[in-house]
Amino acid sequence: MNVRRIALLGATGSIGRQAIAVVEASPELELCALASGSSDLDALAARSGVEHVQLGGDLTELLERARPDIVLNAVVGFTGIGATLWALERGITLALANKESLVAAGELARSAQERGGGLLLPVDSEHSAVFQCLEGSAREAVDSIVLTASGGPFRGRNREELADVTVEDALSHPTWSMGPKITVDSATLANKGLELIEAHVLFGLSYDRIEVVVHPSSIVHGLVRFRDGAALAHLGYPDMQVPISWALTYPDRAATDLPRLDLAGGLTLEFAAPDLETFPLLALARRAGELGGTYPCAYNAANETAVAAFLEGRLSFLGIADVVEAALAAAAGAPARDLEELVEADSQARRLAEQGMSVA
Ligand code: NDP
Ligand code: MG
Repeated sequence: MNVRRIALLGATGSIGRQAIAVVEASPELELCALASGSSDLDALAARSGVEHVQLGGDLTELLERARPDIVLNAVVGFTGIGATLWALERGITLALANKESLVAAGELARSAQERGGGLLLPVDSEHSAVFQCLEGSAREAVDSIVLTASGGPFRGRNREELADVTVEDALSHPTWSMGPKITVDSATLANKGLELIEAHVLFGLSYDRIEVVVHPSSIVHGLVRFRDGAALAHLGYPDMQVPISWALTYPDRAATDLPRLDLAGGLTLEFAAPDLETFPLLALARRAGELGGTYPCAYNAANETAVAAFLEGRLSFLGIADVVEAALAAAAGAPARDLEELVEADSQARRLAEQGMSVA
């Protein structure tokens, strides 16, 4: 048995902690590097016998030292970009939770993967689901794909009812337990907006062939419609250990003791169209994706800036979408030829978002 050596970036986060549980339960997996933003990693490194540890700084330096078989990128935000491109460029398997880097880098990531020739395995549950439903099918047989959204804690409310929601309200997600940034993104539907762009980059489908539907119980994670009228869906209880385990053990699908889907006990699946008026960040993502260039990067950067301000109490919940919309309208959007130009587009959108908040 070949043991796979994993560099876990974002080891102290929600995905990071669940990844550690998956690795500890799997004799074929071992950790070789750990990174956090600033949280202490000594105890974890000692427990798992990991030599290469880094708090903050340039993640590619840690990866150069550790030379992993798999990079599990579970840091939050654009800061994960260096690690994403490092793995793709070298053909080292990338298990990707850090959707922000793929949304921002888009074309750069795709060409790095073409040069590197390695695997890019999504950890995001919807994309993991779609990836699995697509396997074994010719691309021309695919009609469209569907990403499901729980709808978040504010599903069913209108804009007026969202005017005074608090950080605490936004952080109580009905089906998933996740880090604060993605939990707020789930409440605004920006998370599904990011996932729409992520799906476009991963699967190479035009935006009119990627649909988002609200599915409150988060049992169906993703679905593919084929040209013969068939549709394949991926089902399971909402538990990120399933897509984490899938990505780390691909294509073997390791055994886990996670709960099996109980159908006979009664399972009702409900779907509805998303409310794009109340949650404009989903439609804004679609527009940014269709515009292409660095508009997706600007969408992500403005959203990260606005969500941080919301979490700090400097911006209202509805203000998040306003800030992103204004930043997108002012962004240059020209394609980035390299990482330096992408970082500049990211910084420009962050400045625009901050300006938008200071005049608001
Ligand atoms: P958390 O906020 O729980 O964790 C973030 C992790 O990133 C922490 O370990 C944090 O370290 C680390 N980090 C932050 N900045 C840096 C940095 N500059 N360098 C190195 N590490 C850094 O986030 P989640 O685990 O919820 O999400 C992680 C990613 O996975 C996000 O992109 C999210 O969108 C995606 N994702 C998450 C899902 C979930 O269920 N949680 C589901 C699908 C996708 P520190 O402790 O020091 O702050
Ligand atoms: Mg997801």
